[in-house]
Amino acid sequence: MIKYKCIQCNKKKERKELIRIKRQWVCKLCKKENHKNHREFLKRDILGIRKRADIIKEWAKRRKLQKAIQKTMLKKEYKVINFQPIIRGAKPSKLSKYHHHYLTRVEKEVLYKKYVHEGLTSGDANRKVKFLINQLFELVEKLKKKNLSDEEINIRFKESFAKLQ
Ligand SMILES: [Zn+2]
Repeated sequence: MIKYKCIQCNKKKERKELIRIKRQWVCKLCKKENHKNHREFLKRDILGIRKRADIIKEWAKRRKLQKAIQKTMLKKEYKVINFQPIIRGAKPSKLSKYHHHYLTRVEKEVLYKKYVHEGLTSGDANRKVKFLINQLFELVEKLKKKNLSDEEINIRFKESFAKLQ
């Protein structure tokens, strides 16, 4: 009886134990093994795809969350930038403990009273104070862009305020 050699396990086998695949002899045991491996590969692959899908979902979720956080932060920043203090009942900000990059309630009142004393109406005095606050704010922004330290900005701010009084 002619023996054939399986190209995979290199074992000599009888014809009935072998299958011809792509012009080569492979024994039935090896073929079974190959099938098993292929199934496992498919499983892994599919599982891998599933995992990837989960990861993508997670990423999307995280991106959404980050966007939401950024949005809130932007809103807060926006509020700070557009902070237009009202003379009466304006709450002093926590920042005032550290630096005076804006006017405190008392400082605003001093300016307000000065303008009223100079003959402005209440409304005009308020508007003028607001206008000056904006100017001071713009000054601070300019100084920040010049990369001045908080200390330097503070000094320049106070100098400008002193000129107003
Ligand atoms: Zn074999």
